[in-house]
Amino acid sequence: MRILVTGGAGFIGSHLCERLLRDGHEVVAMDNFLTGHPRNLRVLEHYGAAFRFVQADVTKDLPLEGPVDRIYNFASPASPIDYVQLPFETLYAGSDATRLALQRAERDGARFLQASTSEVYGDPLIHPQVESYWGNVNPIGPRSVYDEAKRYAEALIMAFHRYRRVETRIVRIFNTYGPRMRAEDGRVMPAFCSQALRGEPLTVFGDGSQTRSFCYCTDLVDGIVRLMESDLTEPCNIGNPHEMTMLQLAQYINEFTGNKAGIIHKPLPPDDPTQRRPNIGRAQAELGWSPQVDFATGVERTVSYFRDFLFSGIDVKSSSIL
Ligand code: UDP
Repeated sequence: MRILVTGGAGFIGSHLCERLLRDGHEVVAMDNFLTGHPRNLRVLEHYGAAFRFVQADVTKDLPLEGPVDRIYNFASPASPIDYVQLPFETLYAGSDATRLALQRAERDGARFLQASTSEVYGDPLIHPQVESYWGNVNPIGPRSVYDEAKRYAEALIMAFHRYRRVETRIVRIFNTYGPRMRAEDGRVMPAFCSQALRGEPLTVFGDGSQTRSFCYCTDLVDGIVRLMESDLTEPCNIGNPHEMTMLQLAQYINEFTGNKAGIIHKPLPPDDPTQRRPNIGRAQAELGWSPQVDFATGVERTVSYFRDFLFSGIDVKSSSIL
């Protein structure tokens, strides 16, 4: 198939492109490098003519000749510090880019899959989060540029599905980690890994009792591809239910890296969700999917990537990690 991936130079987008190329598809990645990076494309360029990159702001245009069979819409800032610094870009990624990609899917007769997020559940009042939960989102808080844009995207997608008969899929992505995250993107896993490797104290926000559940990137991508090729039009959680507090995560990373600098506490950002863990019953039942990479293995691969990235120069580990 000929497949378009918006946000293809991003962390998840580039892993997705790599998987699709390995599966034998022709892949076109689009990105404007706002939060993605050209180094993430190097491994994809090994696939020669099967891979093409188009530098474009997908909130304005999808400059590509010829029809596509699948569209994976992955372009968006996705880290809390990014979307607070890029509020309009984040809103337009969820709204304008999603509309343009859906219109393209309608025109081409392509199937469309949206990267949605566990953030649609906000600071959830039910735990673990199941797809039928409507969420607890502050519509005017600093995170709303992301949360509400993704919620609007889901509404737009369901309208294209219901009223224009576009084949659509929605994946709600829970916290994901692995190689190719930006060391400075502010998310907890790259922050803790790079702090620990530099011998600095880990910055735990608040008292560290808030929880997250971390999924390794290749597991996520496998779930996403299965969802695209399934018949499921309802949203589907993909994540790893392995839940921990941020204090436990900090202790784990310090122990794993041998960092003796300990932790320091910093203020908790506003509206930071207190708990998050996916209910993956739907993915298990409908897609036959469950995560395969355990936490210790995932952390080992991620720390190894950041070690090379921080200390051996920028070109390292542009090779495949699959
Ligand atoms: N966090 C932290 N220290 C950091 C970065 C993040 O304690 O240096 C916490 C943050 O407050 C949140 C959790 O780690 O409770 C996950 O944050 P992240 O930005 O990775 O993703 P989120 O799930 O909030 O979108």
